[in-house]
Amino acid sequence: MLKVGINGYGTIGKRVADFVVKHPKLELVGVVKYTPDQDARLANVNGMNLFTSKESLDNFKSKNIEVKGTVDDIVEASDVIVDASPDGKAIGNKQNIYIPKNKKVIFQGGEEADIADVSFNARSNFNSAIGKQFIRVVSCNTTGYCRLIKPLMENYKIKNINAYLIRRGADPADTKGSALNSVEWKAKSHHADDVKTVIDVNMTSVAFKVPHTLSHINSMSIKFDGIAPTKNEILDLYRKENRVGVLNSAKTSAEIIEVVRDLGLKRNDVYMTLLLANTIQIDGNEVFFSFFVPQESIVVPENIDAIVAQTNLMSKEESMKTTDNVFELEKIKKNLENIFA
Ligand code: NAD
Repeated sequence: MLKVGINGYGTIGKRVADFVVKHPKLELVGVVKYTPDQDARLANVNGMNLFTSKESLDNFKSKNIEVKGTVDDIVEASDVIVDASPDGKAIGNKQNIYIPKNKKVIFQGGEEADIADVSFNARSNFNSAIGKQFIRVVSCNTTGYCRLIKPLMENYKIKNINAYLIRRGADPADTKGSALNSVEWKAKSHHADDVKTVIDVNMTSVAFKVPHTLSHINSMSIKFDGIAPTKNEILDLYRKENRVGVLNSAKTSAEIIEVVRDLGLKRNDVYMTLLLANTIQIDGNEVFFSFFVPQESIVVPENIDAIVAQTNLMSKEESMKTTDNVFELEKIKKNLENIFA
């Protein structure tokens, strides 16, 4: 079994930890928490070994929270570290801990692309990550775009893409976030450039941040070189993708999340991009559609595949199939597609 340690037990770290435990070839060494709060106690309740920084040891002790060791200890005991720290922190971890200990690390999309040897999306470039010491799993939105653009590019010639993002202002558990009564926008947002770290495509993006926590809702206007696919061809293409759900009748993010809650999916996580089929419009060689991105969960299967690619545990096909099974993606996709038929 490959030993995996998780540095940072927040939105992404706690989800990745759950699936490392479930994966047939991975073993969780533990998770690092920096504050002795309810999430630290939760990790203990869930039977996970807890580690913290040297400076925080006394703080955890004074709160009677059991800790197995320090960050140095977990890094040494692990074959691979998943760094799920807040945006911008991982570069310090890399310089101070991972490089001196010569460790393999998976970074997250909030870091600059040059933190890693390769930016990663399993469907798009699994093979270029095989054996790499430092891999960066691209952000939630970029993952959503890659999962949709890659299959299209394999079948049609894309001239250019204009992307429009409606970004959630905060995650449900955040105490920070967007302005309550204002929409903030960014022309030439970083998202198009981020997609280009994985896929060679001509693309621009503009992003709008809104007071909403349930999901991002993104759109693409895609110009094809030559004939554009028909609506049925687009639907057929994405129905074959396990990490894309095709919803025909959904009209709001709230009703999608209500169904997800009723299905009993842990933390309301769906892990997949949901194509909103009723938004598809085709005009000559141009196609427009929108899609739902579950920001907290979409990158979690990608983190698992990144670990497998990094350590050459399985081929791309075997890894994605195993990950899909561990996450029960086929079942989630089928249920959502049937309910929003
Ligand atoms: P978070 O704030 O929810 O959790 C971060 C955790 O890291 C916290 O528990 C914090 O205590 C801990 N931490 C603090 N300092 C640390 C350090 N030096 N090293 C390691 N951990 C440290 O953050 P998050 O939302 O899970 O985001 C983590 C990364 O994943 C970021 O790069 C982010 O951009 C990316 N990401 C987030 C989302 C999302 O929707 N939240 C989606 C995709 C990617």
